[in-house]
Amino acid sequence: MELEAKVYIVGSGPGDPDLITVKGLKILEKADVILYTDSLVNPVLMERAKKDALIFKSAGMNLEELVDCMEEHVKSGKSVARMHTGDPAVYGAIYEQMKKLKQRGIAYQIIPGVSSVFAAAAAAEVELTIPELTQTVILTRAEGRTPMPEKEQLKDLAAHHCSIALFLSATLIKKIVKEFLEAGWNEEDAVVVVYRASWPDEKVVRTTLGSLDETMRKEGIRKQAMVIISKAADEALLEEGTFESKLYDKSFTHGYRKGESV
Ligand code: SAH
Repeated sequence: MELEAKVYIVGSGPGDPDLITVKGLKILEKADVILYTDSLVNPVLMERAKKDALIFKSAGMNLEELVDCMEEHVKSGKSVARMHTGDPAVYGAIYEQMKKLKQRGIAYQIIPGVSSVFAAAAAAEVELTIPELTQTVILTRAEGRTPMPEKEQLKDLAAHHCSIALFLSATLIKKIVKEFLEAGWNEEDAVVVVYRASWPDEKVVRTTLGSLDETMRKEGIRKQAMVIISKAADEALLEEGTFESKLYDKSFTHGYRKGESV
């Protein structure tokens, strides 16, 4: 693929450089200019950039500087790859970038990536949607400096008792536990925390709501963690029951297979 003079907003994946998409990597390899957050995107990926690519670290830039940099290069005919962590659509702060790019008449395209929620589920070997147990996943965060909309209070979301994945919340554990207990969860309910999913120092910690705060402190996890609270992460519960998808059930007919009558 030939790159155009525009901004490519690329999901770089959760950390492991092999977890970027083929398309994302092609763009990274061909881009004239690359902007990336060095604290979150694996710097190893930058070794794939072409020799004469201009590489900027964006951590120290504000939104205006970031967009100025994109504008300058796109208007001089260059392709710009803006590398985001995970998938850009969740907590990527891309809306404000897109808005400014649009205002300035600069074209952009978004390339999805593997979100850390899925890298965390993979590391913990959890299916977030187990039939008859939970069929819904809520991606959310605890309220910190960014206020939560009134109708999205954790207590109300937790009342659904489905799989809940918490981003950006490792330092807000007490609040999370309190709200889940208020919503009717039990102290014994399973929680899996994945620290730096897919990085070499990844850690998978299995605990319960009641022990979550102490476990996080003991493990020293204060950032880059995905907290998954779900019955689907409860190994003891899964052991007890038989929760199986109808998709592979012998008697279940679907578009690709006729079920046996029983
Ligand atoms: N767009 C990103 C999320 C950015 S917000 C994505 O799709 O993954 C940053 C938060 O994502 C962190 O606070 C943490 O909760 C989570 N996160 C990012 N990388 C992670 C990783 N490798 N392992 C676990 N959690 C991660």
